[in-house]
Amino acid sequence: MGYVLAKRLLKWSETNYRDFPWRHPRVSPWELLVSELLLRQTGAQKVAKVYPTLINLAPNPMALTSVPDELLLQVLTPLGLQYQRARALRELAHAILEIGSVPEERDKLMRLPHVGPYTAGAVMVFAHQKRAALPDVNVGRLGGRYFYGTVPRTKSSLFRVAEKVLSSCPRGQEPRFYYAILDFAATICTVKPQCPVCPLQKGCRYRRALRSSNRQVKRQVADVG
Ligand code: SF4
Repeated sequence: MGYVLAKRLLKWSETNYRDFPWRHPRVSPWELLVSELLLRQTGAQKVAKVYPTLINLAPNPMALTSVPDELLLQVLTPLGLQYQRARALRELAHAILEIGSVPEERDKLMRLPHVGPYTAGAVMVFAHQKRAALPDVNVGRLGGRYFYGTVPRTKSSLFRVAEKVLSSCPRGQEPRFYYAILDFAATICTVKPQCPVCPLQKGCRYRRALRSSNRQVKRQVADVG
C-alpha cells in the first residue's frame, strides 16, 4: 500500500512539481529555516516573491544581524506580520550564532526559537538530507486519509501518521517524496479533496469509505422510494 502511494506520488510529481527558490538541492539549513518562518500563515507564491531578496540581504545568520530594522521590515511588509517575522528571524539568528551552527538532530533543532517538530523535520530532510518524519498538517491530511480514512486530530496522531508516511518513502528519495506530498496536498488532497480526479483513489481508505457511505445512502433512498 505504501509502495503504491510513493510510486504514484512520484509519478504525479514528474509533471506537477512546484519549483520554489527554497527547494534547490543545496539549500542551506539557514535558508530553509528562513523559508519555513516566512511560509507560516502565508501562501508559497507570495513568499517566493520576497524570499530571494531576503536571502540576498541575509544569506546567513551573521548577515541578518547587520540588516537594519527599517530595511528588514520593508522587505517583509508584503507578507504581513512583518514585526513578528522580523523579531523571529533575529531571535533565530542570535540563537544559531550562540551555538555555532544549525543542529542536525530533531531535539536540538527544537531548542531553537520558533522551531517546532515540522520545521525541525524539514531542516533534517531538505537541508541535512536525513530521513525524518514531517508532522505537518498537509502530510497528516493526505497520509491520514489515505492510510486510515481520517485526518489526525491530535499532535500524537499527527506524528503517528507522519511516521507511517515516512515508512512508505523509498530510501534516499525523501526530499522528492515530501515535495510531491506537499504539492499534492496543496492541489488535490486539499481540505475539500478532489477525489474524482485523484490518481491515488484506488488505494485510499477515505475514498473507499466515502463511496460505501454514498452507496448506503443511495440504498436507503431506494428503500424509502
Ligand atoms: S482519493 Fe481523495 S482523500 Fe484520497 S488521497 Fe485522493 S484526494 Fe485525498
